[in-house]
Amino acid sequence: MKRTGLFGGTFDPIHFGHLRSAYEVQARFSLDRICFIPAAVPPHKEPSSVADAEDRLEMIRMAVSDYPQFCVSDVELKRSGPSYSIDTVKHFMATRTEPTLFYLIIGLDAFLEINTWKSFKELFRLVPFIVMTRPGLSCRDSGDKVAALYNFLNAEISGGYSFSSQDSCYIHEANQPVYVFEVSRMDISSTKIRELTEKGESICFLAPAKVELFIKSRGLYR
Ligand code: ATP
Repeated sequence: MKRTGLFGGTFDPIHFGHLRSAYEVQARFSLDRICFIPAAVPPHKEPSSVADAEDRLEMIRMAVSDYPQFCVSDVELKRSGPSYSIDTVKHFMATRTEPTLFYLIIGLDAFLEINTWKSFKELFRLVPFIVMTRPGLSCRDSGDKVAALYNFLNAEISGGYSFSSQDSCYIHEANQPVYVFEVSRMDISSTKIRELTEKGESICFLAPAKVELFIKSRGLYR
C-alpha cells in the first residue's frame, strides 16, 4: 500500500518552513510522496491580495524539482471557484491508480479553524490527519497544545476522541486517526517573505534561490 501526503496551502510563496516540515513528516510517517497542492482562491483569504495561481504553482515546481518524493498538483487550480479540501481528497481517492493511503498534512494553526471548512466532519471520516506543531518555549507549551487539540476535537468534531501516547495520535471509533507531529521550529512565513520583498530586501535562506529569482524576474510582491 502506497502512502501519500496531501499538503495544501496558499504557498504565496513556498518557503523553507513548508519544505523542511514536509521533509520531516515524510521521513517520520514513511510516506512515498508528498503532494503540494496550492489553493485556487483560498476560502479564508482575500483573492485580490494573493499572487497569480500560475506563479505560485511555478514556484512550487521549482522548489521541489530536485526532490523526487515531492510533487505538485494543480487540481485545485483547475476547478472553478474556491478550493475545498473535501473535493481534493475525493479527487485523489477517485483517481488513484494503485492502492494508496492518503494523509492530510496541516499546521496546527490552520487545523484549529477546520470546523469552518466545507463538509469537515466527512473529512475526518475519510482521511487521517497529520497535524504539525512547532516546539514551544517550554514543556508546558506542548502539554497545552495536546490539551487544546483534545478539547477542540471533542467539542467541534465529534465526542469520543482519546489520545494514544504510543502513536502520538487521537483515535476515534468512527473517524480516522489524527496524528500530532512536532516539526522543527522555523520562523519563516510567506507573509515575512512578501514583506521583505516589498522593502527590497533579500529572502535568501528563507526560500530556495530559484524561487527568489522567479519573484524578482516576475516583479511579485512589490
Ligand atoms: P501566510 O504568511 O501568507 O499566512 P504561510 O507561510 O503560513 O502563509 P500557508 O501557505 O498559509 O503559508 O501554509 C500552508 C501550511 O503550511 C499551513 O498548514 C501552515 O500551518 C504550514 N506552515 C507555514 N509556515 C510554516 C513553517 N514555518 N513551519 C511549518 N509549517 C508551516
